[in-house]
Amino acid sequence: MEYFDFYLLHNVYENSIATYLDPRWGILDYFREQVKKGRIRHLGFSSHARPDTLEKFLDFAGDDMEFCQIQLNYLDWTLQDAKAKYDLLTRRGIPVWVMEPVRGGRLANLSDEDTAKLKSLRPEESVASWAFRWLMNLPGVKMVLSGMSNMAQMEDNVRTFSDGVPQTGQESALLMELADSMKNALPCTRCRYCCDGCPQGLDIPMLIHAYNDAKFGGGSTVAMQFDALEEDKRPAACVKCGACAAICPQNIDIPAALEELAGILDRTPSWAQVCRQRDEAARKLKEQMKG
Ligand code: SF4
Ligand code: SF4
Repeated sequence: MEYFDFYLLHNVYENSIATYLDPRWGILDYFREQVKKGRIRHLGFSSHARPDTLEKFLDFAGDDMEFCQIQLNYLDWTLQDAKAKYDLLTRRGIPVWVMEPVRGGRLANLSDEDTAKLKSLRPEESVASWAFRWLMNLPGVKMVLSGMSNMAQMEDNVRTFSDGVPQTGQESALLMELADSMKNALPCTRCRYCCDGCPQGLDIPMLIHAYNDAKFGGGSTVAMQFDALEEDKRPAACVKCGACAAICPQNIDIPAALEELAGILDRTPSWAQVCRQRDEAARKLKEQMKG
């Protein structure tokens, strides 16, 4: 290739940001140089980071990042704090690219009851198109990447974006209502009353938030974010003293939730393991092709 139209630095997040920022490697300088040489037309990055980490990277990268790809859909708007990330990016004038607009297909396959609610308003439209039209209402979104697996999905997506029918307030409110019911979440309000008394100094609301996310989505994104967390700040560090649960105004059984989250994380491969498995599969494939 002589040049890339759009080049993304891969997944800036809690565990990779130190590498991106490390002056020894000069990663940003290298890519700035490639932009100057015309080998990269537009430089951006993808990210699964929390909002504070995202902001730290944007402070470092200055105006060099021309776009940012984040996980954004009507469920992750609250579940993964996507609203805060979207607000941050748009405040800084950075176009948002969207990955996981239908959450790996989950938002294209709702329960019969939820599907019926959507069909009652728009009988002709697919369930997936609701997730896309919700994104169309966000002016900062400039690109939506959808993992389509067959021609019918492709045609449906093209129709949705060609028509470009804006979502009404009533329709968006319905999606938010569905999202709330899907989360089946522990009702943590992030009041932080529980934090002062924790002998382990755990960031309990953050962990409860991660629990909700892991319960819904299987835990791989949570595991990735936890890669960068010290062992003594992870859910397994809870000593089950119960001080937090005694003070929680929402009556959340915090020690039980943390134990369950620790179990989910134990069963979920880390990002480093996923990368190793992928590299190993690529190596085997190359060998087979040579053979
Ligand atoms: S039960 Fe666990 S999370 Fe709650 S205060 Fe005790 S150590 Fe901290
Ligand atoms: S006291 Fe309960 S509601 Fe408040 S932050 Fe802690 S877990 Fe969340």
